Amino acid sequence: MTVSNPAPLSTLTTMQVGGVPKRIITCTNTEILYSTMAELWDGEDQHQVLAGGSNTVFADDMSDWTIVLVANRGIEIVAEDSESVTVQVQAGHSWDEFVAWAVENDYAGIEAMSGIPGSVGATPVQNVGGYGQEVSQVITQVEFLDQETGELAIKPAAFFEFSYRDSALKHGLLGIIGWVEFRLLKLDGLSVPMASGQITQHVGAAYGSQLPLSQIRDSVLELRSSKGMVVKANDPDSVSCGSFFTNPVVSYSKSLEFPEEMQRWSMPDEDQVKLSAGWLIENAGIPKGYGLPGSKAAISNKHALAITNRGGATGQEVLELARLIQERVAARWGINLIPEPNLIGF
Ligand SMILES: Cc1cc2nc3c(=O)[nH]c(=O)nc-3n(C[C@H](O)[C@H](O)[C@H](O)COP(=O)(O)OP(=O)(O)OC[C@H]3O[C@@H](n4cnc5c(N)ncnc54)[C@H](O)[C@@H]3O)c2cc1C
Repeated sequence: MTVSNPAPLSTLTTMQVGGVPKRIITCTNTEILYSTMAELWDGEDQHQVLAGGSNTVFADDMSDWTIVLVANRGIEIVAEDSESVTVQVQAGHSWDEFVAWAVENDYAGIEAMSGIPGSVGATPVQNVGGYGQEVSQVITQVEFLDQETGELAIKPAAFFEFSYRDSALKHGLLGIIGWVEFRLLKLDGLSVPMASGQITQHVGAAYGSQLPLSQIRDSVLELRSSKGMVVKANDPDSVSCGSFFTNPVVSYSKSLEFPEEMQRWSMPDEDQVKLSAGWLIENAGIPKGYGLPGSKAAISNKHALAITNRGGATGQEVLELARLIQERVAARWGINLIPEPNLIGF
């Protein structure tokens, strides 16, 4: 465990906002992670778990906060047969490095989630997903230290009640994830059937096609980059948390109230429809690139759903822009947009 001289949290988050915390405790293995958390849960210190910092917006004054940095890394194959491989990945491991590893080794199931920043251990929190895949489709079990009971146990995926960008961890289940286990498929170098029209159109294949894993990874990285959705030092539109709001899910009958030209997606529950939050924002009069006068926070030039830091924005400025978007969308469309990132210290 390292208790370092704290760096500003703006240097540890992709949104690049957040003040200097009281201390940062870096945990490089699960034993340290669990004992650190148990101690903090028993004590009085305000604390926050942080990994890749790609889904967290910190306040400008964090001086009362202890930050626990999840930094345990490693990928281990724990079971294998002719059809699949079961892999245990430490919580602090980079998600995209894990995807790259799977693609290189011809293991299918996560290729469409290429380029998503952050850690493996954070993926169950909001059931991370993209381009027709979600981690809930491949997670088998998770090592979890439960804050309420103090029990350290290996929990099956069902325990986390995954749904679209959501899990029990966003609804009161408290604890820390030490590692996540995934079952990936051996499909002779091909992907699972692609459930994303954007990808299949991009590569000129039919919806549901199985394509070479590396082709899917390359296409996804290209598509994501064109939207500022891959963190790159030379892309100011990627200084963000990705999508700042989740796409609202409404009943089928409610969805008929919206103009036909709005993009929408069907859901596993046939009575539900996912609306495009980006479309709702742009059609509430907030264009790409928009920022409040004098503020360094602005909507991405490439994607209406991302709030970006144009250089030196404060956490407060990010939040003010988010509130304005919520108010305009509620007034125009009667929809309450829910922020996707964790807003800490405000
Ligand atoms: C450019 C960009 C594109 C993105 N695209 C997508 C996308 O396509 N799909 C998508 O779903 N998300 C996307 N995101 C959001 C983000 O990458 C994911 O939510 C990611 O899983 C966050 O991981 P992290 O390690 O950075 O989390 P952090 O921001 O460090 O933490 C997020 C939350 O998880 C908690 N947490 C972290 N580690 C643990 C642990 N071990 N145990 C328990 N709780 C933990 C934290 O306390 C916090 O509440 C994008 C973000 C960016 C910046």
